[in-house]
This record gives sequence, C-alpha cells and structure tokens, in this order.
Amino acid sequence: MTEWFTETLYPDVGQRFRIDRILFREQTGLQDLVIFESARAGRVLALDGVVQTTEGDEFIYHEMLTHVPIFAHGAAKRVLIIGGGDGGMLRRCLMHRAIEQVTMVEIDRGVVDLCTAYLPAISAGAFDNPRTHLVIDDGAAFVKQADPLYDVVIVDSTDPQGPGAVLFTAEFYADCKRCLAPGGIVVTQNGVPFFQPDELRTSYDRLTPLFADVGFFTAAVPTYYGGPMAFGWATDDRALRRLTAAELQPRFAAAGIETRYYTPEVHAAAFALPRYIGRLID
Ligand code: SAM
Repeated sequence: MTEWFTETLYPDVGQRFRIDRILFREQTGLQDLVIFESARAGRVLALDGVVQTTEGDEFIYHEMLTHVPIFAHGAAKRVLIIGGGDGGMLRRCLMHRAIEQVTMVEIDRGVVDLCTAYLPAISAGAFDNPRTHLVIDDGAAFVKQADPLYDVVIVDSTDPQGPGAVLFTAEFYADCKRCLAPGGIVVTQNGVPFFQPDELRTSYDRLTPLFADVGFFTAAVPTYYGGPMAFGWATDDRALRRLTAAELQPRFAAAGIETRYYTPEVHAAAFALPRYIGRLID
C-alpha cells in the first residue's frame, strides 16, 4: 500500500510526496523530524509536518540565500548562519575561499546529526571544515550576546512557528543588526508571499526601523510551493541591493564557484518583485 507524506503547513491547501522509503522518524525533543525518500524529490527532511529541504531542489534555496549577500558584500570574511541544520547553507558559504569563518547556530543537534547521517549530499562534509564553527543554541539567545563581527547574517529558519517563531521578532532583528560589522547584510528566509503575505509584511515592518535599506528578493523553489519564495534583505548600505550583473560578474568569475541556479543576472533580477509582492510593502 502506497504511503504519502502530506505537508500540514496550511489548513486549507497542501502538497504531498509519495514515500518510497522512511529513513528516519522521531521526536528530537524539540521538533517532530522525518527523513524519507521520494522518487520525485530525492531525500526529504520535514520538521513538524513542514518540508525543510530536499535533495532535489535544495540548490536553489541555498545558492540564493548565500551567494546573493556574499557577492553583493564583495569582501565578506565572517558569516553567521542562524538555523540551517541540514548544512546546505554552510556548504555554499564555505565555497567562498575568502571567507575565513562560518558560525552556524542551530537549536537542534538532532537535525544536524540526522541530516549528516541520512542527507550527506546536502552538507557534503561542510561540518568537518576547519572554517566551520558549529554552535548548538537558540539563535535568538546567541545574537543577543554575540560581538559585532559578521559581514553577512543568514537566517535559515523554519517558518514562524515552534522554536522558529522567535527568529521573526523585532528584538531578534535588532540583535542581528548589532552583530553586523560595518557594511554588513542580514538576509532571511521569509516564506512564500502568495500563501504567507503577512510573514513578509511583518518582517518588513520590523526591519525598516532598524536598517537604512530593507527589501526582498525571490526565487521559485518547487517544494516551497505557491510561487516565488521571498528572502528578506536588510543593510545600511543602499548601493548593495542595486548592483548590476555587470558589476557582479567579476566577483562571480573570481570566486570560481560552480552553481546550478545562481548567476549574476539571476542575482540582479531577483530583486525585481512581481507587483503582487511589491504591493505588500508599498
Ligand atoms: N529551508 C527551510 C525553510 O525554508 O523553511 C529551513 C531549513 S533549516 C532545516 C531550518 C532550521 O532552523 C532547522 O534545522 C531548525 O532546527 C532550525 N531552528 C528553528 N528554530 C531555531 C532557533 N530558534 N534557533 C536556531 N535554529 C532554529
């Protein structure tokens, strides 16, 4: 008998994956975690009934939430990732040879251990990299006491529910700002505006009092279904969001990073918001 994983993110609409094999399922003590194999998406990680990442399309989300701020910054040396338990974000940051250290603050050790064991292709050894500094802690607590060292802060959180809810608060954003070195950038996982318009609007309202330049960029990630996914952008340097593909191209070429989604042209175009998304923050 065919078994299905049905996502429970929304009460009135959902996606489902045929489960070809359950690799792991348990309560980690913090979250209900399942890792399963699906012919369509490859191996899938879901937390509390919500798809977090899949082998099939993780490259889109992880490339855009790392390469866009790092290439825009142009001289990033220290990056902070909040969340990111599967290691895909960490792996992409470490591809930038000029980055000296990536600190990753993940609340649930179980996610790191189980993704390393069952989804090794996503982190691909990133947790063993000497430039990796893994901290098991609540990201909100970490940024409250961290020194202003970071050129880029990446909030790779779950949706604003459970332990992830605190990562969408004004207080958390203020503490992220305090962690930034001069010229730094904060980027956030900010949901799918077609289904989660309030998530984007709320983040915008909470970020704008703190930063000179707040906006969003997008990418369509198939398993975060519902159209383009939004990524929050916040910095005090207004020029960084307006870099052209021609300005980004030399940085991309010099980095020598192989990508499957990111290009300088896609980077520049990602900040052009469809009208229904732009209207949420007009
Ligand atoms: N790509 C996913 C998405 O867009 O929804 C997010 C991926 S990643 C797996 C989300 C991570 O955030 C999980 O590993 C979860 O354990 C972690 N997380 C949730 N709340 C957190 C908190 N307060 N501090 C640090 N990590 C947290």
